[in-house]
Amino acid sequence: MTFTLRTRLLLAHILVIAAVLAAMTGLVMRQQRAWVEEQTLQALERDVCAVAAEIPARADWSELAARWRSHLGWRVTLVDRAGRVLGDSDLPADRLGEVENHAVRPEVAAALAGRIGRDTRRSATLADGFAYVAAPAAPGSDVAVVRMAAHLSALGALRRVLLGNSLAAALLALLLGVPLLVWVTGRHVARIRELEGVTRNLGQGGTARAPEQPLDEVGRLGRSLNQMAADSRSRLEALGRERDEREHILAHMSDGVALLDPAGHVIHMNRRMAELLGQPLPAGAGTFFGEFVRSPELEDLIQSARRRQEVAEGELRLWAAGQRLVRATATPLSDANRESVLLVLHDLTEAERVNQIRQDFVANVSHELRTPLTSLRGYAETLLDGGLDDVEHREQFVRVIRDQAVRLEALARDLLSLAELERPGARPRLEAVDLRELAERQVGVFRPRTEKAGLSLTLAPGPVATVSADRLMMEQVMANLLDNAVKYTERGGVTVVLGVLDGRVFCEVEDTGPGIPEADQPRIFERFYRVDKARSREKGGTGLGLSIVKHILALHGGEVSVRTPRGGGSVFHFEIPAAPPG
Ligand code: ADP
Repeated sequence: MTFTLRTRLLLAHILVIAAVLAAMTGLVMRQQRAWVEEQTLQALERDVCAVAAEIPARADWSELAARWRSHLGWRVTLVDRAGRVLGDSDLPADRLGEVENHAVRPEVAAALAGRIGRDTRRSATLADGFAYVAAPAAPGSDVAVVRMAAHLSALGALRRVLLGNSLAAALLALLLGVPLLVWVTGRHVARIRELEGVTRNLGQGGTARAPEQPLDEVGRLGRSLNQMAADSRSRLEALGRERDEREHILAHMSDGVALLDPAGHVIHMNRRMAELLGQPLPAGAGTFFGEFVRSPELEDLIQSARRRQEVAEGELRLWAAGQRLVRATATPLSDANRESVLLVLHDLTEAERVNQIRQDFVANVSHELRTPLTSLRGYAETLLDGGLDDVEHREQFVRVIRDQAVRLEALARDLLSLAELERPGARPRLEAVDLRELAERQVGVFRPRTEKAGLSLTLAPGPVATVSADRLMMEQVMANLLDNAVKYTERGGVTVVLGVLDGRVFCEVEDTGPGIPEADQPRIFERFYRVDKARSREKGGTGLGLSIVKHILALHGGEVSVRTPRGGGSVFHFEIPAAPPG
């Protein structure tokens, strides 16, 4: 059974009162008894000495004892030298024979030895007992010892009074003490209960605080509790910040990271991992990884790391997520409690794509170089092998050699332009450029060629079209588009239209050439892509012109597209943001 604090305090209080009163009563009782006994013994002694001095030689001892009793009030016993009782005030003479020998009684023994003998004895039946004093009788008498006894009846009365007083005191102490104690403990218990409530609230993550006044033990406990709550809160906040930072780093990593428990359940997974696996990020921990992504190769890798307890690595393709190529690393992590596996996926798709583009580019460039070089070498060898003497053809041979050299030069120039545009950090040198004025100049440059080819070349009238752009780059865009239009058009002509729409300047270069089949339209801006290879080469094209145009416009936040109108020909349309006024 558990008692409440208040019950325990009350019980302790009652016990203390009872113990103190009992001890006090006992002490007072002892002193009172000693005092009463002493007083009685002194009175007895006075009387017994007086009687013993006047004892007659012979008498009716019973009658004499009875007389003295009525005089003095004490019981009187007369004893001879042998200890026999000769007379007793409280016993009839005929029963004296039944009385045991008194020589062994301490007071009688002392009187027989010639001294005053004293003794107090408890009677077997009465708790208060008797006081005895015996004195040696005057010589010459049959009586040797006179003994007187007094009933210590005052002791019983005294005890009753003392007990009564003690009980009254106890009652008073309880009557006054218990309500006071109830009030005091009540206040403390209420404060302790309040602390208990605060502790429970803190345990549930609350922000309760304990009152600190008054500053006694309970108040100090409240203060310590508040200090502890503040410390725990700041520690929790620091831990939370640390966890957030870690999660932030994990969430924004370019690699996919997942931590798996021994049974293959996800303990933690970052967003990139879910992206790479082509799945939505699981809401909480506990998802079974094998269900999340069905990739036997990935499973094998994880199992191998777990079995061999060493890092397992491999490149594999994830079919579920757009056939991504990844390098997967599974690392077994063992700590005292469990063995988990850390899985990291590094995306190689982009690297693979870039690598492929680089390989294709090198192959294309080699191919583009080989054709004119073969031609150059062939014609040079022909000239050396007697061609120089062939008056009829040698000039034509040299002309071919020059054309091929020009083509190589154009290729080198375009490759250089592309390399410059693709250089990381390449920036156009921006200035306000009037695109109409620039187009006019380019039209002027191309006019002799169109006139020679019997083509019309027109710049349609329209508004001033100012852009913030790199002048040289814009010239290159215009020149490349006009060059293509003039190059591929045999009849009709070329028209340039400039305008401003929705804050963007647009330019269209239209021609009446063969047009571009719809299937090829999305690809003609790729490097070295040509619709008609032979024709492009024949016209001295490098296959890089439109790719350069696309790059330049991208650097200016613009774009280029092509369409083939129903009536035929091609329309190259590009646009870039107009320069802000002023
Ligand atoms: P090229 O140096 O071969 O002209 P471009 O990158 O400038 O290379 O153009 C790519 C291809 O697009 C050309 O080979 C050609 O087949 C096609 N093309 C470009 N402009 C025109 C046009 N105005 N009319 C028809 N075809 C064109």
